[in-house]
Amino acid sequence: MNGRTLMISIYTDDAGTSWDDHSSDDAEMMFDTLDNLRISTDYLTKQAARYGCDARFICDWVKNTDLYYEATFSESLVTEFGDYYEVQKNWIEQNIDIDTLRSKYRADNVIYLFFFNTPFSNQVNPWYLGYSCSPEYYVEFCNIYVRFDDVYITKPPSYAHEIMHCFGAHDLYYANEFIPQQYVDYLDKTDSNDIMYTVYDSKDIGNEFTDLDAYYVGLIDECAEVDRWNLAKSEHITEQQTFG
Ligand SMILES: [Zn+2]
Repeated sequence: MNGRTLMISIYTDDAGTSWDDHSSDDAEMMFDTLDNLRISTDYLTKQAARYGCDARFICDWVKNTDLYYEATFSESLVTEFGDYYEVQKNWIEQNIDIDTLRSKYRADNVIYLFFFNTPFSNQVNPWYLGYSCSPEYYVEFCNIYVRFDDVYITKPPSYAHEIMHCFGAHDLYYANEFIPQQYVDYLDKTDSNDIMYTVYDSKDIGNEFTDLDAYYVGLIDECAEVDRWNLAKSEHITEQQTFG
């Protein structure tokens, strides 16, 4: 998470959802997503500083209009992760001159966020797909569904959670190939407040950014939890070992 990260916002129409340029409600929701991006990246900058690291995020598409995109797809992209990875990856590669943006902003990292104007009736939670899931997903992006599960508007804690995935953090609320069930049980028993375990439905981020999170996003090289619970090694450590 070290260095300068460029955040590209893509307001996306698909087969079932759209943004209306003439709707003040939609404009308000778009500015709300930007506000959430600012809050979540400020949180991440502060957490990185606790570890002596400098993490900067460039996300403001009002100030930097070339960070704002609109996309239209004929498919229905409000669906569980992976189904249309190729379609979205191809769109990014064909429509965004990332080399130019990277050098203009002197960016070390790039994250793409597709925003969908979903109604509350949408039952798909926001998700991320990228390298920390599998190396084949080398273009990393998040799908942010702005309303979900009947009552929720996606809030800054969820943004921070998804952005951390882009840097290598793993979900801790279910057993997966990186995190064994015993560790999930331990977090459950100890009422963990880790942001990769649980997120609050609030504008403020009251979740904890733990040493384990710092380890997975590449801010520290060691974490006692990893050996104690037999958790996966950080992708940042693996890269170093592989390439010297
Ligand atoms: Zn997650």
